[in-house]
Amino acid sequence: MLNLIIFGPPGAGKGTQSEKIIAQYQLEHISTGDLLRAERNAGTTLGIRANEYIIKGELVPDEVVIGMVRNFMLSKSSAQGFIFDGFPRTIPQAEALDLMLLEFNTSIATVLGLQVGEDELVKRLMLRGYTSGRIDDQDENTIRNRFREYQNKTLPLQVFYTGQGKYQGVEGIGEIEEIFTNLTACIDKVKL
Ligand code: AMP
Repeated sequence: MLNLIIFGPPGAGKGTQSEKIIAQYQLEHISTGDLLRAERNAGTTLGIRANEYIIKGELVPDEVVIGMVRNFMLSKSSAQGFIFDGFPRTIPQAEALDLMLLEFNTSIATVLGLQVGEDELVKRLMLRGYTSGRIDDQDENTIRNRFREYQNKTLPLQVFYTGQGKYQGVEGIGEIEEIFTNLTACIDKVKL
């Protein structure tokens, strides 16, 4: 199995690059943001609870997200690998992911960190707010809150994965194709 994490702040281009990586390496996409929005749109208890956090730009509690990822992975037991997009976002989520992958007899091959400065991110998210219809992309306060959550709870994962020797940073500003080429070079380095 080839398991990757695409890492970076909101608006760094994780979703866009994930789609291209999936097409090239035949991986299953796990976007916890997409899964949570699907739950909310279906009106499930989990989705309604999660939405209270999403609209404020806060992280959904770990146990909710971890359980959801676990169920998704179990439902894709024949996958050749996964790309985790927007997950893990906290140290407990990263620890839970390591354990879940161990159950599948596998592990994370590499963590691809897309590097983009905050001013560019706010611009991208506000623009996305017009087209995506996402409420959490339309309000500047919510966007700033998402960055705060990222700085406080998610960024420590860079140290966590650097410590595991798995973190590779990639410049996230530029042409989509050029960024993708740089990402594939990082993946091919660790691919067996
Ligand atoms: P995203 O689509 O990845 O930007 O996620 C949108 C929102 O969903 C985030 O601002 C969080 O409220 C929630 N969310 C998505 N993934 C996670 C996660 N791994 N842990 C906690 N909350 C999450």
